Amino acid sequence: MAYPQAIAAPTLSASLDSSSHDALIIISDDFSQLANNSLSDAINAQAKVDSRIGKQVTFLVIENTRVILAPTGPLNRDYDDVRRYFDAAKLAINEAKASGSVSPAIYLPNLHIDERYQNALEVAYLGACQALWQPLEAREYHGEGIEPITQIGLIDVSEETVKAVNAIAAGQYAARDLCGTEPERMAPPRFADYCVELFKGSNVSVDVVDDIDLIDKNYPMLSTVARASYAVERHHPRVVKLEYVPEGEVTRTLMFVGKGLVYDTGGADLKVGGYMAGMSRDKGGAASVAGFMKAVADYQPKGVKVISYLAVVRNSIGSDCFVPDEIITSREGVRVRIGNTDAEGRLAMGDLLSEMKDLAKTEVNPTLFTVATLTGHAARAMGPYGAYVENGPARSANTSRQIAELGDLWADGAEVSRSRREDYDFIKPRTLADDVLSSNNAASAVTARGHQFPMAFLAVVGGLDKHGNDSAQPLPYVHMDIAGSGVEGGDWQHGKPTAASVTSLFARYCM
Ligand SMILES: [Zn+2]
Repeated sequence: MAYPQAIAAPTLSASLDSSSHDALIIISDDFSQLANNSLSDAINAQAKVDSRIGKQVTFLVIENTRVILAPTGPLNRDYDDVRRYFDAAKLAINEAKASGSVSPAIYLPNLHIDERYQNALEVAYLGACQALWQPLEAREYHGEGIEPITQIGLIDVSEETVKAVNAIAAGQYAARDLCGTEPERMAPPRFADYCVELFKGSNVSVDVVDDIDLIDKNYPMLSTVARASYAVERHHPRVVKLEYVPEGEVTRTLMFVGKGLVYDTGGADLKVGGYMAGMSRDKGGAASVAGFMKAVADYQPKGVKVISYLAVVRNSIGSDCFVPDEIITSREGVRVRIGNTDAEGRLAMGDLLSEMKDLAKTEVNPTLFTVATLTGHAARAMGPYGAYVENGPARSANTSRQIAELGDLWADGAEVSRSRREDYDFIKPRTLADDVLSSNNAASAVTARGHQFPMAFLAVVGGLDKHGNDSAQPLPYVHMDIAGSGVEGGDWQHGKPTAASVTSLFARYCM
């Protein structure tokens, strides 16, 4: 795999004459004044005869160089953010590619002093990478040549920044591959193989749990979700365990559990009426976690240890499928009554979260996360933003807020939701036969607090309800629901995966 690598480009004038770049992309809200006078003159002359300049992406040839002007539109309003650059870069890079460029450079003049745009050049590069990514199946069929742009120059940027954005881009690329691939090509064993290959030769260790007996014994809820897939060996589940240990002292430990539903039919509560298409992307959480680990592997941040468990499983339907009303005793010893088999992501992750919580007790300064395309409600409530729901210790530490604020600066937006007592009331047992209810029986999108209450369930089956602020050992925990942000345009069937949360986690903990 090869994402378009970022390189430090020379100054604007040097880039214009340089043979290292075959196109110059200029992204701005104003093209009238550039640092290079001859370029400014040429653009102003062109603007006299072409009123599209400044209004839409335009292609010019100036001094035998391809020049692409990509307007951001206004940047000064309260609701503008750095995605103006991200979106303009996506359009511009496609124009560059269509013109035959294989090595363009990006330049941002008149950069706003406004701190919202402090990472605009980096974000523009990541927007270009988003636009250029082609699905894994397409590359395997047509060859890697369908991604002809192999490097992108960034004008006026430090080597340290180049290193960071390359790590992010590599991580996002892997996350898109893992999320965006059809359910047989990325069946659980092949998902695990991709991870083994991804981290080969890196300092991230990979341990794949493939023993079904062991999965049944240690992860009874995950095994319940996987039950109907046991009839088909190539659909058997995997637990992928990744670990990065930094050189030197560890000051913080990040612990992720990712939802990797390679296909979600809904199970016995089958998705009907056309709602199943796109459910190969229900592995977006695990994909983003693996992508974050790839960024970590490439960047090798100091001080931060990262441990990730990926629940890679297929929610099939068949004669041995689990059904609502079953009571499953989880790893944590909690008796879970199944409310709806389409609420399987919380089951697949719950036992891994419980194991992670036990591990966290002896790790340095741990924070736990679940990352998942969990609920339609998150998309309904937040639109194209992630939804973060945190427990008391994470709220006290301002964990979600800090990640979300960096997300705003890196075009990886999210909003913070509160965990409330109603969420715990919602999942409480109705009789003595069980301890917790996994879900109600309406679509989450029409359920009040449909993306918040699953965090309460995860806290209970993960045993984190015993590690609140009032406990002997508080453990911060954030549930990140990326169901609204995981694919472009909210189009689960056809939208490109966004690798949501990779950039903001990297910005928060690695830079
Ligand atoms: Zn489901």
